Amino acid sequence: RAKSDGRGTFSFYDAGLDERLQQRRDLTRDLARAITAGELSLNYQPLFEAGGKTLTGYEALARWHHPVRGPISPAEFIPLAEDAGLIEALGSWVLRTACAEAATWPGHLTVAVNLSAAQFRHGDLVSLVQQALHDTGLSAHRLEVEVTESLLISSPEAVVGMLRALAATGVRIAMDDFGTGYSSLAYLWRFPFHKLKIDRAFTQSIEHDAKVRVIVRAIISLAHALDLRVNAEGVETEGQMQALCLLGCDELQGYLLGRPAPVSALAHRAAITEAPAAVS
Ligand code: C2E
Ligand code: MG
Ligand code: MG
Ligand code: MG
Repeated sequence: RAKSDGRGTFSFYDAGLDERLQQRRDLTRDLARAITAGELSLNYQPLFEAGGKTLTGYEALARWHHPVRGPISPAEFIPLAEDAGLIEALGSWVLRTACAEAATWPGHLTVAVNLSAAQFRHGDLVSLVQQALHDTGLSAHRLEVEVTESLLISSPEAVVGMLRALAATGVRIAMDDFGTGYSSLAYLWRFPFHKLKIDRAFTQSIEHDAKVRVIVRAIISLAHALDLRVNAEGVETEGQMQALCLLGCDELQGYLLGRPAPVSALAHRAAITEAPAAVS
């Protein structure tokens, strides 16, 4: 459809775009409500020590079950929350819920929480984390926060300060999706990371692409020289697992080892069922 502006020119308007914008507005409105209405939940994906079969903890992944549209992916609603100024409320809910649930797990298990760059720009993130730990009784060393490279390009100085303050409290810091962003290597020495998570894109190609193996080997040797642990994300096949173990990866995560699951269905509960004498 085209409208005349009365001077003989026409501006075209895209009905599809209009619809998408309207849908986005509706979804944003729904998301604001979802946070308080209990429509959000967390799934937990297990992290395993690479050599043995030892479970070390879980990554918390946000889920939104929309009353009409059904499940909506975090890849869709997290950016929406960031744009709509809802990420503080959502992020705070995720942090408190993950800490509260992890506090009920066996003491050797950790929980990893994803932080959005927007959470560093607004509000006092360090106090928020400390308050969540205090209120839930989870000790700081059992919490890991995951940040992505996008965080590090915006305002590095302020971000370095906040990450150092978090690390000083005992919280561990992981760089997520490593290798997909900008100038990754430059960030490694400036930021107090404890762990590197190699992006799933590398894992996917590791079996059949010799160049990818060269890159991953170099990343792992660099990380180890800097005293960082290395996690590989998105492990789906035995072959990928073997290749990653051979290259010296410390920790594995992926559908092969365990899918994200609701808190009632976590892997460590199976172990508890097998050995009830071990729990008090
Ligand atoms: P991420 O932090 O890199 O999380 C890993 C994503 O990969 C998850 O997708 C997980 O379900 C998926 N995954 C794990 N193993 C496999 C595998 O073997 N194969 C494949 N194909 N995928 C696998 P999910 O849960 O859809 O989350 C997507 C992204 O949304 C996350 O990527 C994270 O960046 C973001 N996100 C999720 N929850 C939160 C949250 O609470 N806060 C923030 N700020 N971001 C979140
Ligand atoms: Mg993550
Ligand atoms: Mg990741
Ligand atoms: Mg990812």
